[in-house]
Amino acid sequence: SEEKSLNFIEELIENDLSSGKTKTLVTRFPPEPNGYLHIGHAKAICLNFGLTQKYGGYTNLRFDDTNPITEKTEYVNSQQEDIHWLGFEWKNELYASDYFDQLHGFAVKLIEKGLAYVDHSTAEEIAEQKGTPTEPGKESAYRSRSIAENLALFASMKNGEFEDGVCTLRAKIDLSSSNMLMRDPIIYRIKHAHHHRTGNAWCIYPMYDFAHGQSDSIENITHSICTLEYVSHRELYDWFIEKLDIFPSKQYEFARLNLTYTVMSKRKLMQLVNENLVSGWDDPRMPTISGLRRRGYTPESIKEFCERIGIAKRENLIELSLLEFCIREDLNKRATRVMAVLDPIKLVITNYPAGKEEILIGENNPEAEDKGGTREIPFSNELWIEREDFMEEPAKKWFRLAPGATVRLKHAYIVKCEDFKKDENGNVTEIQCTYIPESKSGEDTSGINVKGTIHWVSAKHAQTAEVRLYDRLFTVESPDSEEGDFKDYLNSESMEVIKQAYIEPYLINAEQGVGYQFIRKGYFCVDKDSKPGQLVFNRTVSLKEAWKP
Ligand code: ATP
Ligand code: MG
Ligand code: MG
Repeated sequence: SEEKSLNFIEELIENDLSSGKTKTLVTRFPPEPNGYLHIGHAKAICLNFGLTQKYGGYTNLRFDDTNPITEKTEYVNSQQEDIHWLGFEWKNELYASDYFDQLHGFAVKLIEKGLAYVDHSTAEEIAEQKGTPTEPGKESAYRSRSIAENLALFASMKNGEFEDGVCTLRAKIDLSSSNMLMRDPIIYRIKHAHHHRTGNAWCIYPMYDFAHGQSDSIENITHSICTLEYVSHRELYDWFIEKLDIFPSKQYEFARLNLTYTVMSKRKLMQLVNENLVSGWDDPRMPTISGLRRRGYTPESIKEFCERIGIAKRENLIELSLLEFCIREDLNKRATRVMAVLDPIKLVITNYPAGKEEILIGENNPEAEDKGGTREIPFSNELWIEREDFMEEPAKKWFRLAPGATVRLKHAYIVKCEDFKKDENGNVTEIQCTYIPESKSGEDTSGINVKGTIHWVSAKHAQTAEVRLYDRLFTVESPDSEEGDFKDYLNSESMEVIKQAYIEPYLINAEQGVGYQFIRKGYFCVDKDSKPGQLVFNRTVSLKEAWKP
């Protein structure tokens, strides 16, 4: 990555550091605890923490918890867990709600400077007063209230003397500004609501724009990085800092991550959870960090993905297949190769003694430097193989089993198909083969050349497991931009459950958080629903590569 050119944020930070404008780089990741974090947040996390890892300084975790209605401690906890899991450490754990006193003080200061007023206009009247982008707004009848009157009314707001919505505190800026946000924005509203941390201490709450920049400033954040939707908020961000004469944090914007075949807003993801369209925030089909973790994604693969997509100044849509490419690459290096049969059919070796058992040795990972060691694989005369590996009437270039055809059993012997059985419906129920004793893998003296290798599990030694296969959650690339409700585009076939797959005995001790390659079938991991004797595996990703770098 030394070779990589700097992104625009790194460039401006390098300038600020070399000019001495910035002494210590301080960034923050500021989630609102109103849901679980998703892969878009991972991009912001990697960016903010990555910058201070690269340039020194530190990153704060600040919960942007100024909206009492939507925030919960469950979300605070899950967000912390996800950031830690990605491998990042914050310097300070902070809450915007801890600044409620200071923010209130800032509001009083603005009133004292004649730069804020209590407005008894209704929400509709305020909207009306704002005008449109092409015509200037109109002053509220309450705009000329005296400083003393405003201080008294704001105190009454704070003391709970008004019902919700009776009045607001507005900044007195410029009703003819071309930036609609500068047309006397609301900075405090009345909300008699319980807050997850401050309880019932407050009945007025600051608006996002009045809380975010000032929180940055209180923490001496030097570079406050956010997504492009906030470009128009920057003027207001700077105005508050200037008028309050506080530490000059600066806001910079980058393009948010959008990913194909999914949605990426906590509000929408919450609908999927609440309407039971998925099993929870950590459903393996969800683009949440907890969903990806449960699906078998590694922190390294997510960080690699964020690195590859880079930091842009323009909105774009990233292919889901790039994320899949990153996990495939990572698991290719670390996953133990094992054998599992998902759609079993019996294969009987007629010339292998019925009571005989043999232990074969399998290499765990030919892609790993140390080959990942080896494991023992039991072999006997009755095996499970994949139904799709046999064709009664083989197609051209069919190198797997068919009447009279030979194939290698992975880590074992070459077998030849001699016969097969069918039931009354014409379904193949059993395949009969002979094996070539001198063709054992690693010591093959048979001189026979076969083109196909198939996987198998010894029937006597096989364990059963539930296997869950996943597909994309939505049927269209961009459910957000389709007509109607985004939920209309859910993929009804996004999950396939195989109740009884056969796995080799090595997998009995498979652990959560470890990736396995079921050879020819994809990468899999143990699901949290798994219990001893009732194993459940998730397919993380198939082996096929749809996306080329
Ligand atoms: P959501 O609509 O998903 O809730 P949000 O922006 O409201 O998103 P926050 O909790 O406020 O969520 O976000 C915390 C930080 O993560 C912010 O700095 C935000 O800009 C960033 N972020 C959120 N979504 C994305 C995304 N898709 N790509 C990059 N950064 C994002
Ligand atoms: Mg937000
Ligand atoms: Mg949001």
